[in-house]
Amino acid sequence: MKAPAFDYQKPGNIDEALALMQQHGAGAQVLAGGQSLMAIMNLGLATPEILIDITGIKGLSDITLTDSQVRIGALVTHARLHASAEVARHVPLLWQSVPHVAHMAIRNAGTIGGSLALADPAAEYPAVALALDATISLQGPAGAREVAASDYFLGLYETARANDELVVAVSFPKVRPDQRMVFDELTRRRGDYALCGLAAAFQMQGGKIGSARLAYLSVGDTPVLASSAGAALAGCAPDEAAVAAAQSALAKDLSPRGDLHGSASSKLHWAKVLLARSIRQLGES
Ligand SMILES: Cc1cc2nc3c(=O)[nH]c(=O)nc-3n(C[C@H](O)[C@H](O)[C@H](O)COP(=O)(O)OP(=O)(O)OC[C@H]3O[C@@H](n4cnc5c(N)ncnc54)[C@H](O)[C@@H]3O)c2cc1C
Repeated sequence: MKAPAFDYQKPGNIDEALALMQQHGAGAQVLAGGQSLMAIMNLGLATPEILIDITGIKGLSDITLTDSQVRIGALVTHARLHASAEVARHVPLLWQSVPHVAHMAIRNAGTIGGSLALADPAAEYPAVALALDATISLQGPAGAREVAASDYFLGLYETARANDELVVAVSFPKVRPDQRMVFDELTRRRGDYALCGLAAAFQMQGGKIGSARLAYLSVGDTPVLASSAGAALAGCAPDEAAVAAAQSALAKDLSPRGDLHGSASSKLHWAKVLLARSIRQLGES
């Protein structure tokens, strides 16, 4: 199927983009990499009157470092993220997650801002953002604001971003020497959306786990932080006793719904499998 006709504008800066968004309201859609939007339009699930192509806006494609953070512009593509030595070094959980996003052709065009704006519950970056407590930078007619990832993902494809706001960047804290990161997911075929995924950020104290932020994808309407399982790991060595304790606590955190891809109990089982793998990987590192 082909998308119905639409108008097209390519603003040169953020103010022009915001003015166009205000002018056209609900009839407008922002176009970044187009890797989700064009597919949705071709299926007839979105019929915008006008696409506002933001790919010509300078300053949205930078990766910048401060003492404690890595700020990634909304237009940075998946491929650029994975090619970035700064991302590999300072945000290894994000870097590990990139090859799990779709296929290379999609990674060449799709952007981190598009992924966070869409907030697909099966997408990798929302879970990574939640695990690392990232900050999403938004800009709208009333100015700029920052939203913590824990406040940003509100429901199925629903975020704290208002329709007239752009995602302009996302900032991740730099990994500390006492932290270990593990990203893993289960898919039917490489490149498919995950049946279940886990972004895990561990803080170590000696050989033990001090704290753990475990963010799951594909188990609910939003990325889900498994706080009980994380708490069960505090003070544990990364061994089989820790696996058992965390797996048993996980049932309090997750209540996945069954769907075409698997039953609720299968999904909980997959989540436990990923949890065990991440703790065992920690033990081996
Ligand atoms: C076959 C296939 C497989 C895929 N598999 C995966 C996968 O495994 N994991 C995964 O995470 N993704 C997957 N994707 C989606 C892909 O990663 C997209 O690139 C990404 O979700 C959206 O980024 P984009 O830049 O292409 O956004 P677009 O498609 O251009 O836009 C997506 C939505 O976000 C809005 N938007 C975009 N940028 C902004 C912004 N800066 N501010 C405000 N709104 C904005 C648009 O208006 C639109 O509503 C897949 C896509 C396809 C076609």
